[in-house]
Amino acid sequence: MDWAGGCLCGAVRYRASAAPDYASYCHCGMCRKASGAPFSGFVQFPEGTVEWTKGRPDRYTSSDGAVRRFCATCGSALTFEADNVLFMTLGSLDAPEKVDFDCHTYTAFKLPQIHLTDGLPHHPGPAGGKGGRPID
Ligand SMILES: [Zn+2]
Ligand SMILES: [Zn+2]
Repeated sequence: MDWAGGCLCGAVRYRASAAPDYASYCHCGMCRKASGAPFSGFVQFPEGTVEWTKGRPDRYTSSDGAVRRFCATCGSALTFEADNVLFMTLGSLDAPEKVDFDCHTYTAFKLPQIHLTDGLPHHPGPAGGKGGRPID
C-alpha cells in the first residue's frame, strides 16, 4: 500500500513507497512544545523511500543538529531529523491508525496525567531509531 501524509492545510504533501519499519512515541518537553500535544508519535520509513510530493516545508533548528520541518502556512509539524535520522510525525500521516509502534522514549519527562498501558518498552531517554537520512 501507499503511505502518504501532509499538513493540515494541504500545502505540503509527502509519500513513502514502503511501509514504516520503526515508530516511537516521544514524551520530551521539546516535542511537547513543538506539537502542542501531551506527547508525540514519530514514524520511520526505509531510507530513501520518502519524498515530498507537494510544496516544501519550512524548517526550525530546535537544538544542535536537530531540525523540525513544518508547514509555513498552517504550522503542522511534519518531521524530526537528527543525527541522520528522519522521523515523520504520526499525526501527519493519512492513515496513522495503521502504524505499529515499537516503544516509548524520554519517559523520564512524561506528564503525570498520562498513563501508559499499551505494554510497549519504555526508555527514559532516547532509543535511537533505526537511522535514515533527511529528505530534501
Ligand atoms: Zn499546511
Ligand atoms: Zn521528543
